[in-house]
Amino acid sequence: MTATETATTATEKTTFDVLVIGAGISGMYQLHLLREEGLSVRVLEAGSDVGGTWHWNRYPGARLDSESYSYQYAFATDMLEDWDWSELFAGQPELERYYQTVADRYDLRRDIEFDTRVTAMAFDEQANTWTVTTDTGKTFVAPLVITCTGVLSAPIYPHIPGIDRFKGERYHTALWPAETVTLENKKVIVIGTGATGIQAITEVAKTAGHLTVFQRTANWAVPLRNQAMTPERMAEIRAGYPDMFENLQHTFSGFLHDWDPVPTTAYTPEELQERFQQAWNGPGFAKWMGLPNDIASSAEANQKWCDFLVERIRERVTDPATAALLTPNDHYFGTKRVPCESGYYEVFNQDNVDLISLKQNPILEITETGVRTETGDIDADVIIFATGFEAFSGALKRIDITGVGGITLEQAWSDGPVTYLGVQVAGFPNLFIMGGPHGKGGHGNGPRCAEKVQEWMTDFAKHIFDESIVRVEADPAAQREWSDEVQERAMKGLMAQTKSAFFGDNLADDDPAKPRKRTYLAYVGALDEYVDRLKNLTKNGYPGFVITS
Ligand code: NAP
Repeated sequence: MTATETATTATEKTTFDVLVIGAGISGMYQLHLLREEGLSVRVLEAGSDVGGTWHWNRYPGARLDSESYSYQYAFATDMLEDWDWSELFAGQPELERYYQTVADRYDLRRDIEFDTRVTAMAFDEQANTWTVTTDTGKTFVAPLVITCTGVLSAPIYPHIPGIDRFKGERYHTALWPAETVTLENKKVIVIGTGATGIQAITEVAKTAGHLTVFQRTANWAVPLRNQAMTPERMAEIRAGYPDMFENLQHTFSGFLHDWDPVPTTAYTPEELQERFQQAWNGPGFAKWMGLPNDIASSAEANQKWCDFLVERIRERVTDPATAALLTPNDHYFGTKRVPCESGYYEVFNQDNVDLISLKQNPILEITETGVRTETGDIDADVIIFATGFEAFSGALKRIDITGVGGITLEQAWSDGPVTYLGVQVAGFPNLFIMGGPHGKGGHGNGPRCAEKVQEWMTDFAKHIFDESIVRVEADPAAQREWSDEVQERAMKGLMAQTKSAFFGDNLADDDPAKPRKRTYLAYVGALDEYVDRLKNLTKNGYPGFVITS
């Protein structure tokens, strides 16, 4: 490829070396890296500003559950010097401000087209370029497209009859309006009790007149243990940044907490309770990734931790029937995303809060004034859908992507996503995925998992332009091997026994987006293992890709 630019001014220009889709955590860094290499880049972003997840998910209570300082850009070195985090686990407004400040400092916005949603893209087999169509009517062309569309950015609504009939206010947590939403003294319904719902419910319950929570599946939630940061603590953390960033490349998913190699079997029953109590008292994922590592693989070990958690729920929820309803009975701990909470269980001791199990009392329909259940109508001023996402693949499938021979990505993935190393799909040359199925990019501690993948991508992009390569495409055999490996490894673990968004089980059976085969959507291995595999490609001349100069 040669670095070609066809038009004269920045605003008129529609042909670039690289088009990046998405200006979230990944897209911002990708832009910075590619620009440093002298490539002409345009980022197309559906939102009105940078930040991705932290731009869209502005629902009440939205907050990090990775420690704030572990979740910032390592590359933004001047900000490491002068950005003080106000809380151990920052709330959405602070995170949004952080990513906006990065955009200011690194002058990123001049190369980002905001309020521009990519609707379709088609590969031109003669020119070896992608034509990218947007909802503004503007079309862009580039030989290389890199998607940074996020793994949790395609919201889903439940398939409940009458969902559009409701005359009150209706919000999805991932599409929360920027304008202030007042819930004070209102009758509010929240549907969904995942990591998002649990944060939102805790916050909404503080001011709502009445809150009804609809729970489909009880979740194993653990205390976040947020606290204010002091200047002394911030100084201490800042002094340790170089070591921290290096260490985080070698924890399982880029978190500060890592699986403890001492298994539960090494402890006496009394010692194990002490070990569990120590984890329980710790921050955030100390109670997940910081646990004895056999909890991730052994049903027996996992059950011991579940038993400990059941006791904590019983201690915190006054009504035994409500405590029982809040106690998971169908999945092992950590086989779904573990929500971190700050007073969630106590919410159900409040007089203004009701919990309804959808398994016992399903919603039959949504009416003009609320919801109709089997046991009666519940009126609401506001319905909040905390019902999650078409995870990992949804954002890409919602773009009409046509590759070689007129095959669409949706067709290629109809049996479930297949990829080569999570970065490419056979039949879609010159298209690279930075956060999607089967990869580690953007999954786990977002910035930590994304950055090495994007640095690898930047080296590859430079190689492509330096060597006048016109076409790079995943070899179907390499893709098969990788996709089979991902699936086989996932099926060996406890996660395979649980219905979860990691397998697309959260999509309704009648949802056309639901893959025909139950496919694991993420990547089961450790971050450094994944990054090493990418780096080995670079060292060995990119095996598994068909490269045409
Ligand atoms: P989620 O984990 O998929 O939870 C969605 C909830 O909605 C679940 O309780 C689900 O029930 C329920 N639900 C889905 N479809 C439904 C339907 N048709 N009827 C009734 N209930 C339905 O989604 P999420 O809570 O938005 O979390 C998504 C991801 O966002 C998490 O995995 C996490 O990675 C991320 N997140 C991160 C943070 C953070 O970093 N602080 C905070 C929040 C979220 P089932 O369990 O039965 O499917």
